[in-house]
Amino acid sequence: MKPSAMHTRVAILGSGPAGLTAALYTARANLRPIVIGGVPAGGQLMITNEVENYPGFPEGIQGPDLIDLFRKQAERFGTRILDDNVSRLDVTKRPFHLFTAGGTEIVADAVIVATGAQAKWLNVPGEEKLRGHGVSACATCDGFFFKGKELIVAGGGDTAMEEATFLTKFASKVTVVHRRDTLRASRIMSERARKNPKIHFLWNSAIEEVLGEGSVTGVRVRDTRTGEVRVVPCGGVFVAIGHEPTTALFRGMLELDATGYLKTTEHTRTTVPGLFAAGDVQDHRYRQAVTAAGMGCMAAIDTERWLAEEGLEGPAEEGAGSPATVPEHGASDGSISRAKSAVASEAKG
Ligand SMILES: Cc1cc2nc3c(=O)[nH]c(=O)nc-3n(C[C@H](O)[C@H](O)[C@H](O)COP(=O)(O)OP(=O)(O)OC[C@H]3O[C@@H](n4cnc5c(N)ncnc54)[C@H](O)[C@@H]3O)c2cc1C
Repeated sequence: MKPSAMHTRVAILGSGPAGLTAALYTARANLRPIVIGGVPAGGQLMITNEVENYPGFPEGIQGPDLIDLFRKQAERFGTRILDDNVSRLDVTKRPFHLFTAGGTEIVADAVIVATGAQAKWLNVPGEEKLRGHGVSACATCDGFFFKGKELIVAGGGDTAMEEATFLTKFASKVTVVHRRDTLRASRIMSERARKNPKIHFLWNSAIEEVLGEGSVTGVRVRDTRTGEVRVVPCGGVFVAIGHEPTTALFRGMLELDATGYLKTTEHTRTTVPGLFAAGDVQDHRYRQAVTAAGMGCMAAIDTERWLAEEGLEGPAEEGAGSPATVPEHGASDGSISRAKSAVASEAKG
């Protein structure tokens, strides 16, 4: 261990809803966690406009504002946040060693992984510009905004069938655009979609461009067999071609499922004792801010209990890991300074 390495009871990877909720709970359990929040910090809600389904906000809230509140609440109880990425970790022995891209080494008795996932996008012109203005990757989150509209769903797997079926609650018509002439989805999901009178299929078709200025007006679609191009008018596009869990760092170290998600056993425990996982990084089913936050809470409680079983209660010894010696280079926005003043004011109070 480098003399400058920080020792903490709990290191949390990720500053989305799961990571920051885990931080809140472990901070309030007097474990003085360090969050290595990732760059960019805040996770998927940072690219979300209106969040209308997070309980406690009857008027809705902007995704980045919700993350800011999570962050402030975690910092209030002494969470230290480094806006940096973990680039390497050693979990072969305890305590664990984490190394950040910014050059910080952190030694942790327990680790909570909350590195999330990312929706896969089509990467076609118009898509990024119109995200949040008619282009979405989450029907549960955004379907409500599309009442009475004609919608496009891109994809041919279970997710696409699920999204299309859900969207028929709001849309007047849903067209599934699929590159092939058969679906990848399971038979039961495919049949449910095919039987729905509001769902139509555009086979052998690839979306080449999302059209619209300020809001979606249509998609340009190419026939994958003939090459013929045509415009399909619509009021929204749901991209349902899957998610990519952020688990590359853990390959060969922790058990992953066939699609790359972290495997948990006994609630939030991973296959390595002392290493826990929460949120979208281990959940391909629900993928919601509230479920990620809930799992962050679960991981924090499981971590606290595991540390107690190991005789590691209370914050780690001060010294290199004290707020006064947290290196500044990892912070991109003064978050460490904010964390320091939060710790200081808590000490005063
Ligand atoms: C466009 C969009 C709209 C959405 N709308 C809604 C909605 O309205 N309501 C809702 O409930 N849900 C919504 N969701 C889903 C919701 O955002 C996610 O379910 C939730 O953010 C998952 O939280 P998480 O903490 O597990 O992961 P994430 O939010 O993905 O956060 C992961 C964190 O890990 C960090 N990280 C990654 N790699 C590293 C590393 N090597 N080292 C350190 N940190 C790392 C990232 O920087 C990030 O901070 C939406 C998602 C998208 C994409």
